[in-house]
Amino acid sequence: PIQGSTGGEEKILVSVRLRPLNEKETARNDASDWECINDNTLIYRNNLSVAESSMYPTVYTFDRVFRPDSSTRQVYDVGAKEVALSVVNGINSSIFAYGQTSSGKTYTMGGITEYTVADIYDYINKHKKREFILKFSAMEIYNESVRDLLSMDTTPLRLLDDPERGTIVERLTEETLRDWNHFKELLSICEAQRQIGETSMNETSSRSHQILRLTIESSALEYLGNDKSSILAATVNFVDLAGSERASQSLSAGMRLKEGCHINRSLLTLGTVIRKLSKGRHGHVPFRDSKLTRILQSSLGGNARTAIICTISPARTHVEQSRNTLLFASCAK
Ligand code: ADP
Ligand code: MG
Repeated sequence: PIQGSTGGEEKILVSVRLRPLNEKETARNDASDWECINDNTLIYRNNLSVAESSMYPTVYTFDRVFRPDSSTRQVYDVGAKEVALSVVNGINSSIFAYGQTSSGKTYTMGGITEYTVADIYDYINKHKKREFILKFSAMEIYNESVRDLLSMDTTPLRLLDDPERGTIVERLTEETLRDWNHFKELLSICEAQRQIGETSMNETSSRSHQILRLTIESSALEYLGNDKSSILAATVNFVDLAGSERASQSLSAGMRLKEGCHINRSLLTLGTVIRKLSKGRHGHVPFRDSKLTRILQSSLGGNARTAIICTISPARTHVEQSRNTLLFASCAK
């Protein structure tokens, strides 16, 4: 479990979701060597050679492990809901999907975002003594350049440092949500904007990070005699990360030069930041080293809450990448 703002040791909630084999993998007789043996444990059970089995762990434990037949609803309920909904109590949070391309990040994060917004509307309907304002914005980081996903203007957005509010994305569109349908409309605009980018640059979605951001402001309709809770404001970020193969450091020597430029600075820095935060925040945390971590700084560490869902493919052909993802997940615990 996670500690709130008072405990010195906020813990990152780390889950792993193993997706089912897809048609293509089944068609080529790809097999799955991964098995979820209980709610916290994933094991690798190939007949490893002795040399190999001493090199790689075969048993992995996390806060939660989701098997191929788990629904996104279950992933949300156990792996994200509590962290995401802390936003209604004025606590910032971030939910990440981390994993190689095609492992299920977008599939998982899309569902989590919608369930959260639905639950927030539910909460608002049950709390008539407060007035709520929901604001929505969306951006994409590609090659350390930030783009507004709610605007037709593709000019890169600048980051500014505000002494009060921290890093601000200059000129980012922020829409005040009217209702659920308006939210769905904005989601489809983001989706369309993301695809426009994709046709002009190869494989954008595997190289870019998408951040959907919801800010909730609420105020008590009558004064409660408690200054702290009369006005609350917080942000929840839904982060669909670039494919983790972009952070891979296990490239062969021959590949390194050519591929080196594709290694994703935001993804690497996020890894370092998460590792430092999970170790209790001793020393310097390099938030300023990438656009992603600068934008998310006020929603990472400190009083903020974080959940990471690592998605892995079951396919034998993806075992290297799956191990890299599990290594990242283990470091975040
Ligand atoms: P990524 O965003 O990591 O590249 P996607 O979310 O696009 O991967 O998933 C790749 C494909 O696999 C999509 O067609 C998606 O619908 C499917 N998929 C992913 N996860 C699951 C799952 N848990 N159950 C069923 N299909 C899934
Ligand atoms: Mg995706």
